[in-house]
Amino acid sequence: MRDPQALLTSLRTLLGERHVVTQATDLEPLTRDWRGRYQGTALCAVYPADTEQVAATVLLVREHGGKIVPQGGNTGMCGGATPFSEEAVVLRLDRLNRVRQVSPLDNTMTVEAGCILADLQARAQEAGRLLPLSLGAEGSCQIGGNIATNAGGTAVLRYGPMRDMVLGLEVVLPDGSVMNDLKRLRKDNSGYAVRHLFIGAEGTLGIITAAVLKLFPQPQANATAMAGAGHLDQALELLASVRSRLGDRVSAYEVMSHSQMQLVLDHIPGSTLPFAEPHPWYVLIEAEDSFAAMDLASILEDCLADALERGLVADAVIPRSEAQREALWRLRHSVSEANKVSGISVSYDTVVPLDRLGDFAAETERGVRAAFPQARLLFVGHVGDGNLHAVIHFDHDAFPSRADFEATAGRINEIVDTATLACDGSISAEHGIGLSNRKRLADSIDPARYRLMTQIKALLDPDHMMNPGKVLVFEDPQ
Ligand code: FAD
Repeated sequence: MRDPQALLTSLRTLLGERHVVTQATDLEPLTRDWRGRYQGTALCAVYPADTEQVAATVLLVREHGGKIVPQGGNTGMCGGATPFSEEAVVLRLDRLNRVRQVSPLDNTMTVEAGCILADLQARAQEAGRLLPLSLGAEGSCQIGGNIATNAGGTAVLRYGPMRDMVLGLEVVLPDGSVMNDLKRLRKDNSGYAVRHLFIGAEGTLGIITAAVLKLFPQPQANATAMAGAGHLDQALELLASVRSRLGDRVSAYEVMSHSQMQLVLDHIPGSTLPFAEPHPWYVLIEAEDSFAAMDLASILEDCLADALERGLVADAVIPRSEAQREALWRLRHSVSEANKVSGISVSYDTVVPLDRLGDFAAETERGVRAAFPQARLLFVGHVGDGNLHAVIHFDHDAFPSRADFEATAGRINEIVDTATLACDGSISAEHGIGLSNRKRLADSIDPARYRLMTQIKALLDPDHMMNPGKVLVFEDPQ
């Protein structure tokens, strides 16, 4: 960059002094990822107020030869929002936090990118509607970040990932122009569905400033249960049985190994195992329906009684109050926090077809146990979608240096990716690629598809100004 000070002066004139942050102490949390795996650096962080200011910021940064790293809640799992250059401007979307429109008739909500996910869930509820995206970071992640990562979460089984909930987008492109595609339409066959390029692009093609989201009827009936099972295969058999009775009313089907549950119990205050004794696997099931008279709890109870009789599960609990239901979900939602505070993890976001899930878990376990007998192997995931996170967990002091950690992670990557590809799966179901998984992406997907991705990037952002060094292996940002 020719003159960083000149860029800072121009940004201050555009956005106002207090919306351009350069103090090291203020920048520090914005230049570190949620897991604490990467510590980067940046020229500044900026907080534009609206789409026009985002576009004007992009033009200024372009004019001065700088780089832009869009950042939402900074809860991403792959280092995608971490800046790694003295030329980087972290563009925070926090001030774009207005709900522009709620339309119960269309079942849509038009929102700005900086809205916090939990706030939008509450706004939808006020309008008698459901925004089904739900994940552990919902109190701090932003809808723009959710769209940019094509987030998944716990309700994909019934409602699909973020991509399926986005009807329209407003995006500031790398040349500073604004693409306005904020239509509230369920059907729109007017040419290429360009919005899908930006969903899951992790800020490498443009900055999402607003979106039209699909809403759904509020569930009027729901039921939750947790079961303990001896094997993953039994948990999958139970899934088939539950779905045969409840169909697409099954909105969540989460699985956790006991090794994972134990870390939650040990490190998250107030968490207790809802069973008299531990089981190798736990399944958390949620079903819902928009018809109030539907007695889902009885159907689920029958299903579990049958599973107990057939020996598919060893025990099951059905919460009798909202507080008990929340306590079960807290166990699941506390997993990332428990893993973070208790040690260092190398974790995976694998998805495979359901009939290969058992093979994937067994092959991963075999390889990891042989190579790293000292590591704890945890499994947790949105298994109803075939998405099983393998977490290889080490003590805080397991690695004398960063290089040691990276070497170990590289060896585990080989084990897990070989198992993933052998099971016809993908290395990322929902967390994305960011910085951590660039090489794994290049090595694992169809070469023609990868080439198309690089061509699209070259077309939209030939100067690599937008989130450089993320997703694709062009250059190393570090
Ligand atoms: P950030 O982390 O700020 O950014 C993520 C990426 O998107 C970066 O590449 C960034 O540059 C880009 N970006 C952000 N905002 C914009 C924008 N407006 N325009 C363009 N690009 C942008 N993820 C799941 O999918 N499922 C889960 O179940 C899940 N559970 C989690 C639980 C916990 C406790 C935590 C901490 C994280 C979890 N995550 C999960 C990961 C994370 O919350 C999601 O990836 C989330 O969508 C990121 O949103 P964010 O606003 O924090 O984005």
